Amino acid sequence: MGLAYKEIENKRIIADDEKCNGCLVCQLRCSFRFEKAFNPEKAAIKVNRFTKGGTDYFISFTEKCDACGICAKHCPYDALSWIKEEKEVA
Ligand code: SF4
Ligand code: SF4
Repeated sequence: MGLAYKEIENKRIIADDEKCNGCLVCQLRCSFRFEKAFNPEKAAIKVNRFTKGGTDYFISFTEKCDACGICAKHCPYDALSWIKEEKEVA
């Protein structure tokens, strides 16, 4: 358990799997973005159980994740955070 994150340019998505409840809303929302269908298998975020039937989870992001933040917006347990740093204007 711990923090997993993915960083693309000025955006970062961070997962705190201690807070995760395994609801899979994040996977559904992510897959809908890419596939226009709710299919957790197609999501760029993976929520895995440590043990079969257990309630501890660990989260990872695949190569496909571009840190768009949609999953964080919809996580009902505040387990995902999204940060976008504004670029400095010269
Ligand atoms: S940040 Fe975007 S691409 Fe990455 S897992 Fe979340 S919804 Fe999917
Ligand atoms: S939406 Fe949040 S609580 Fe639900 S599985 Fe994803 S990270 Fe875990």
